[in-house]
Amino acid sequence: MVYLTGAGPGEMELLTIKALRVIKEADVIIYDRLANPDILKEAKNGCEFIYVGKEDGHHIMPQDEINETIYQSALKYKNVVRLKGGDPFVFGRGGEEGSYLKQRGVVFEIIPGITSAISVPAYAGIPVTHRGVAVSFRVITGHESPNKKTSQIDWDSLKGDDTLVFLMGLHNLSKISAKLIEIGKPKDFPCAVISRGTTKEQKTVVGTLENIVKLSKDIPTPALIVVGKVVELRDELEWFGK
Ligand code: SAH
Repeated sequence: MVYLTGAGPGEMELLTIKALRVIKEADVIIYDRLANPDILKEAKNGCEFIYVGKEDGHHIMPQDEINETIYQSALKYKNVVRLKGGDPFVFGRGGEEGSYLKQRGVVFEIIPGITSAISVPAYAGIPVTHRGVAVSFRVITGHESPNKKTSQIDWDSLKGDDTLVFLMGLHNLSKISAKLIEIGKPKDFPCAVISRGTTKEQKTVVGTLENIVKLSKDIPTPALIVVGKVVELRDELEWFGK
């Protein structure tokens, strides 16, 4: 059995009870660069660890090799845990891993995790929806440069009042904020960058589409970007570290 498991956003206690159970029972854990490596200490004696994460944006292992590693582990061991940051299906490529296994007749389970897209803003005192302010939210890849002709993002559809959460977008922040101004958002529209959310190193920078790049210079990854009026609610709702 392979468990495609979400590890949550960072703080150890944001791991689900189910994830913790399969981690304790695992014969092998295949993991990314996790926000919280302490999770691995919960594994039993003799559990094998295979690191397949990214270092400074470079994959240690390409995705097809990761898929094959999980498959080979499943042939060898009874309990295989594929541990991924946040939720495995939110920009986690868990779907690709699942279908690779399915095609080879390996059974798997998905264990959802608390995604950073919602929990990290929450730890910064920013609710992704709020009555009268935002009735929906979008979670968008920030990995695609808005200038790329082949960009799959429908930028014009981001004009409304949805809260926008960009993952993997820190290196594209200047292009993203410029693009949002280009589609008609005001230059002083509220925007936040939250780094290492839910951990002791959590940092939040609040600004506007116009000044956020300057304000968040040198902020460490992982970080996500929140754009929307909900960012202003932080004045009242900030709680972490207080
Ligand atoms: N599956 C993950 C997301 C994977 S994409 C999830 O559901 O959370 C990786 C991106 O997630 C990072 O580039 C960053 O934008 C965001 N991220 C993950 N953990 C984070 C954290 N603790 N603080 C801020 N952003 C985080």
